[in-house]
Amino acid sequence: MTDRYAVIGNPIEQSKSPLIHTAFAQVTGQDIEYTKVLGPVGGFAQAVDAFRSAGGRGMNVTAPFKLDAFAYATDLAPSAQMAGAVNAMKFEGDKVYAENFDGIGLVRDLVHNLGCAVQGRRVLILGAGGATRGALLPLLAQGPSEVVIVNRTVSKAQDLSALARQHQGSTVPVSGVGYGEVTGAFDVVLNATSASLTAELPPLTLSAFASGCLAYDLTYGKGLTPFLKLASQAGTTRLADGVGMLAEQAAEAFAWWRGVRPDTSAVIAKLTVPLV
Ligand code: NDP
Repeated sequence: MTDRYAVIGNPIEQSKSPLIHTAFAQVTGQDIEYTKVLGPVGGFAQAVDAFRSAGGRGMNVTAPFKLDAFAYATDLAPSAQMAGAVNAMKFEGDKVYAENFDGIGLVRDLVHNLGCAVQGRRVLILGAGGATRGALLPLLAQGPSEVVIVNRTVSKAQDLSALARQHQGSTVPVSGVGYGEVTGAFDVVLNATSASLTAELPPLTLSAFASGCLAYDLTYGKGLTPFLKLASQAGTTRLADGVGMLAEQAAEAFAWWRGVRPDTSAVIAKLTVPLV
């Protein structure tokens, strides 16, 4: 029997998840159906209940429901606990297992797809929202020499860095600062703000980009964003957007559900918008 999965969000039309998971199912020979569910705002639990009652095996969760899914889950993985948000659920009887694969997806893209070692490097993360929360522990597990979180609302960066210091299993220095306090140059600069969605630019100075650094915008499908343009002006030639992260977090969910990890290269090639 065909197993059913779906992504739930509102809006949901824009979601690439059905395309990605259908492609993964084809290359791995898995018999699944993957659809989109438009969840009513305020009606997340009812919509998921209905999907489960109809035999659904698992769901991806996108905006604005990642916190609702956190509350709905019965068993939260450490990744979801640290992120305070859930982006994948697996249903087994009364159990709702929940994960957040955004961070591991980012790290896999950096390390495996882009060949960018994080170990021993200075990492700067712009933004202190859900994406940064999800990314922090997997990034720290790579053993960077230092992680600095910079955010417009400085208190959020400070709170998040304190939380990361509590949770991490190593002793990587982590700090939270405002844009005026960023000092020195960084080997990996990650834009985890939502500024690129509206073609805005966080007030970062050119000196933050070390020679030979990787500038990575988690936003995808927008071409050369103002952040990537800034990095380019600073002389950075290694530029990437979040399309690989999107594909890798999906592959993690697929492997968790189906026990087989698909290769992501064809999906990344299909979804890539050139950075020009
Ligand atoms: P949140 O809404 O949780 O956080 C947004 C962050 O952006 C906040 O820190 C906010 O600062 C900051 N911000 C927004 N506008 C500006 C601006 N003009 N200048 C400076 N800072 C700004 O969003 P998420 O963390 O969920 O998502 C962030 C980005 O990451 C989005 O573009 C999203 O599409 C992308 N993403 C990509 C994924 C992928 O698979 N590639 C997965 C998940 C997210 P403040 O706190 O001061 O408001």
